[in-house]
Amino acid sequence: MRSATREGAHVLIDTYGRVATDLRVSLTDRCNLRCAYCMPEEGLQWLSKPDLLTDDEIVRLIDVAVTSLGIEEVRFTGGEPLLRPGLVGIVERVAALAPRPRMSLTTNGIGLRRTAEALKTAGLDRVNVSLDTLRPDVFKALTRRDRHHDVLAGLAAAAEAGLLPVKVNAVLIPGLNDDEAPDLLAWAMEHAYELRFIEQMPLDAQHGWKREGMVTAGDILDSLRTRFELTAEGSEERGSAPAERWIVDGGPHRVGVIASVTRPFCAACDRTRLTADGQIRTCLFATEETDLRAALRGGAPDEEIARIWRLAMWGKKAGSGLDDPSFLQPDRPMSAIGG
Ligand code: SAM
Ligand code: SF4
Repeated sequence: MRSATREGAHVLIDTYGRVATDLRVSLTDRCNLRCAYCMPEEGLQWLSKPDLLTDDEIVRLIDVAVTSLGIEEVRFTGGEPLLRPGLVGIVERVAALAPRPRMSLTTNGIGLRRTAEALKTAGLDRVNVSLDTLRPDVFKALTRRDRHHDVLAGLAAAAEAGLLPVKVNAVLIPGLNDDEAPDLLAWAMEHAYELRFIEQMPLDAQHGWKREGMVTAGDILDSLRTRFELTAEGSEERGSAPAERWIVDGGPHRVGVIASVTRPFCAACDRTRLTADGQIRTCLFATEETDLRAALRGGAPDEEIARIWRLAMWGKKAGSGLDDPSFLQPDRPMSAIGG
């Protein structure tokens, strides 16, 4: 956590003293996959074009965030951010901002084979690619699309382009791929990808998540330990990162586990989120949003936008509320919030 007094009012600080320096920007709610834990097979309503922020609006908001609000890192996500036609241009323009934020992209990897080089040239620093299985048939069952080979090709292209370190995000689903943790780790180590398992969260459009059914961080670590020796990395190395990391077989490889449900890291959270339609979210699980788009389109100057953003973050809740019996899943699914 940052010091509460860092640059006084010019940071996104909340009443618990947390300072947000990491901005997640969702570029679209659309996707070319239909991962069961994220989207329904069909029938999800897309945001309409006029509702989406334009490329100029996105760059302006990021400019305000880095120049007036202390944002140091920008992560593009979605939906599938590679589906955004102006992505390379947005990256290029954000790279030209002063101060220049670190920039990464969370993607399903489809299309990365074609775009990795251009993204690197535009100024993107690195990528997180989501891949839950090494088995094409399981991939098809989980994502409802037969695109496993495209993801592998995208990963290779990202590494080749120097978008390093290439991180791989994996979600394990009971009865589908929950036996794959050791295989995924062996494969990631072979390719020098940094693997992180993410506990499944209640953010699916179908509201089908059940705590009893989920694969926990404990299950994942037990499974990995059947083949690898894991040593916990020191907490000082974790900082505000959501992943707890383990050194594998004495190093140098590491594996991360993001235990958002069973070991939440809300007290160290340094995130603020912007949806593709210009709403600020203080948390993935927030049930309220703050409309920046209306201010933007109403002609608000940068200082006013910064003020609204600060006020929204000031009201950030202490935690996700997942452990509270009155927990309510947010209306928007993960694909529309921006993971
Ligand atoms: N489409 C891109 C992708 O899949 O990487 C970016 C958006 S996706 C919503 C971002 C990340 O959220 C992915 O790693 C995905 O596996 C993860 N995710 C989606 N739904 C989730 C859920 N219900 N619980 C945990 N992680 C989830
Ligand atoms: Fe698409 Fe990513 Fe959601 Fe899968 S997790 S459906 S790839 S947005």
